[in-house]
Amino acid sequence: MHYALSEAISNSELFVLYQPQVSLEERRIVAVEALVRWEPTGGEVVPPSDFVPFAEQNELIDPLGAYVLERACRDAAKWQGLRIALNISQKQFALPDLADFICSVAQENGLKLSAVEVEVTETADFPDRTAAIDQLKILQMRGVTVSLDDLGSGNATKELMEALPVTRVKLGRPLVENYQTSEGAARLRDLIGAAQALGLGVTAEGVETKQEYDCLRALGCDLMQGFLFSKPLRAEEVMDFVETSHAKWRAI
Ligand code: C2E
Ligand code: MG
Ligand code: MG
Repeated sequence: MHYALSEAISNSELFVLYQPQVSLEERRIVAVEALVRWEPTGGEVVPPSDFVPFAEQNELIDPLGAYVLERACRDAAKWQGLRIALNISQKQFALPDLADFICSVAQENGLKLSAVEVEVTETADFPDRTAAIDQLKILQMRGVTVSLDDLGSGNATKELMEALPVTRVKLGRPLVENYQTSEGAARLRDLIGAAQALGLGVTAEGVETKQEYDCLRALGCDLMQGFLFSKPLRAEEVMDFVETSHAKWRAI
């Protein structure tokens, strides 16, 4: 797979989809998350779960991350008023000037840093945690939104919310889909309350049903992402979707 994936990165067999995030207060799409795909020539599209972990283990995550960053910033420069959220692997934090690199690619593509969001997963096992925290602080100070992704997937969730310099948390699908059980609802309430007490924004991802939406809204989530609103879209579909979808949010 190593040869095929490194060829894929240099031959542009990777592409990026963008999934809208809806602000409940503003009732509009305020951000999109960049989600990478691999389409081998003549083959089926490969989801990131089948190659991102391999890239992380085989020194390919830096070129892959750089490709997605460049591509997503170039696409996002066309979408005024939308923040672009990028998944950054824990391994990319081995790069000592990661924050500078992200900021310079965004700015070279004409993006304001306030239009950039970086997502790090809760289970991230940073090569050097202190150094990673310093990089995240630099990003935050420059106006980049820093999000703790897949909240609820690890066992030190609340501790991490406090320890890492984050602006927002993203509740993962496993938390969201358990909203109906009393244990699941209590956990959601607990985590959302903890995030709010720290002044953090709360995004719910993987929102599929109106019932999940109602519950998460009542619990205080301010942004939502999921199939209820939109699947991940091709770059050329994003603007059309943004322009035609306002009526839908009002109806929900
Ligand atoms: P993630 O960052 O938590 O992204 C959310 C995943 O949930 C995406 O899967 C998205 O397609 C899926 N999803 C969105 N709405 C729904 C929904 O309503 N229901 C359900 N069941 N799922 C939904 P995807 O695109 O397969 O990405 C999987 C993971 O791969 C991402 O999880 C992220 O951790 C990683 N990933 C994706 N792109 C990149 C990238 O460019 N770099 C790195 N390092 N990781 C990436
Ligand atoms: Mg993410
Ligand atoms: Mg996530």
